[in-house]
Amino acid sequence: DRSLLSKILVIGTVSGGSAVAFSDSRPFQRIYGDSGEGEFKKKKVVVLGTGWAGTTFLKNLKSNSFEVQVVSPRNYFAFTPLLPSVTNGTVEARSIVEPTRNIVRKKGMDIQFKEAECYKIDAEKKKIYCRTTEDRTCGGKEEFALDYDILVIAMGAQPNTFNTPGVVEHAHFLKEVEHAQRIRRSVIDCFERASLPNLSDEERKKILHFVVVGGGPTGVEFAAALHDFVIDDLSKLYPSLKEFTRITLLEAGDHILNMFDKRITASAEEKFKRDGIDLKTGSMVVKLSDKEISTKDRATGQISSIPYGMVVWSTGIGTRPVIMDFMKQIGQANRRVLATDEWLRVEGCESVYALGDCATINQRKVMEDISAIFSKADKNNTGKLNVKDLKEVVKDICERYPQVEIYLNKKQLKNINVLLKNAEEDPKKASMEFDIEKFKKALSEVDSQMKHLPATAQVAAQEGAYLANCFNRMEQCEKNPEGPLRFRGAGRHRFHPFRYKHFGQFAPLGGEEAAAQLELPFDWISVGRGSQWLWYSVYASKQISWRTRFLVISDWRRRFMFGRDSSRI
Ligand code: FAD
Repeated sequence: DRSLLSKILVIGTVSGGSAVAFSDSRPFQRIYGDSGEGEFKKKKVVVLGTGWAGTTFLKNLKSNSFEVQVVSPRNYFAFTPLLPSVTNGTVEARSIVEPTRNIVRKKGMDIQFKEAECYKIDAEKKKIYCRTTEDRTCGGKEEFALDYDILVIAMGAQPNTFNTPGVVEHAHFLKEVEHAQRIRRSVIDCFERASLPNLSDEERKKILHFVVVGGGPTGVEFAAALHDFVIDDLSKLYPSLKEFTRITLLEAGDHILNMFDKRITASAEEKFKRDGIDLKTGSMVVKLSDKEISTKDRATGQISSIPYGMVVWSTGIGTRPVIMDFMKQIGQANRRVLATDEWLRVEGCESVYALGDCATINQRKVMEDISAIFSKADKNNTGKLNVKDLKEVVKDICERYPQVEIYLNKKQLKNINVLLKNAEEDPKKASMEFDIEKFKKALSEVDSQMKHLPATAQVAAQEGAYLANCFNRMEQCEKNPEGPLRFRGAGRHRFHPFRYKHFGQFAPLGGEEAAAQLELPFDWISVGRGSQWLWYSVYASKQISWRTRFLVISDWRRRFMFGRDSSRI
């Protein structure tokens, strides 16, 4: 009974203090249906998107209790971390994609694929509306609607232009496979154009001025890949044009790769300087015309314009219109991305999950819940907790909010663990009382550091695998409603909340060098050739299939042996 359920949810939120996530203790069970005669009928699951989140979800789904429909305008999965390598021909576009139909066929499950884009989600009617995309070559426009019992939104995001005039019209993006292919063609095109007769040196300089906007990992990796292409291959084929070629990297902040350790940032900036890549930090692009790019110096406010041949825009991601429309429907209009709880359920609607770049776990709610846990433990409202109670509270918080634990181990809150341990071991300290407000303050500092999970393939893939594992256990939960002992009791959730494990990050810097920042039992930082080989091993091992693994490794070998192909096809 849905109305009864929603009442329970509301009561839980108002009186329970610990909000929906805890009061509604069996969300996955709720949506696993009963035909009315004790027989389970298959629930209709619609998955939107075949990127990192959607594909990992499908790959890990083992339960046959669902009728799954997958909708995506791309009928393949693309290994996005290798897109910069496609722009210079180190790997071929087809080597990094795997057809979705191949992936689902191997599973032998009840999964149907539909190549279309979803343009509207109606959460009330539990319906999605889809249409074929305009880039279809076989023509024909079709529209259809699908009903769902459970919706999994994994639609990713789109490039963010910050409404900068001229960007959509004149810049290249690097988000999809077609973008990478277009960039590759465009670079070669610039070289061919610049080698035509009757051009002045000024014109050649302009045509061969490549501008990359955005000093994040993608912008940096692309600039490095372009530099490699120019130095290793194009300068041999167009020797007279080498002196006219220039690569500029524009970054609005003070440094590039600012999500990496400072040592990596410094090494990358130094390497780019050595390589002759013109790095302009503190430089904000304000306008793009077909000939010039206008930038504003953040320090002086001065506006200057530089002529360019090609611009690649890589300044982060924004929300897709269909998601924004859906957010308005469910009362999330004031947010940037879809907010979910720790179990990846979209807040404000039923049976809808969101993962990957299009969603984020709502940290504000997490903090409210953490406050509520403290208040509950402080039964007499004294504002203080003894060691035993405090230890329970910290344990409870860490169990429910793993993100807190990530920081608890590392940052300021490490002190809390030490403090509790000391208090436990020292009988004098065991009777100490702790000020709740102090702890709340420490936790709110952690909250501001937690921010959102990064929009990376690593997060998206882990979320996809987590959700599939929950779905795999839904049937078991239904058959054994009591569940394992450790999950019994009021306020306990049947599944662990999503727990993100950060393994580290890479940034290839060109010239067979990469920066690596890995989370081993200790923080490991390295820049150089060794890291580049580690990068090769990790990206080969992370391929989605043996077929793409074989193709990618063959492409790397081909490049080592014969160089990159510069045909403009
Ligand atoms: P995506 O992988 O973008 O997938 C979205 C899916 O939704 C696609 O299949 C798309 O076709 C589909 N879709 C779009 N619109 C609709 C619609 N209307 N209806 C239905 N389906 C729709 N991350 C890392 O961790 N490490 C890296 O090294 C790294 N390198 C990167 C390099 C580049 C060049 C780029 C662009 C990204 C990189 N990332 C990296 C980030 C990573 O690719 C994203 O975080 C990841 O793709 C997010 O996964 P997702 O499933 O949310 O979205």
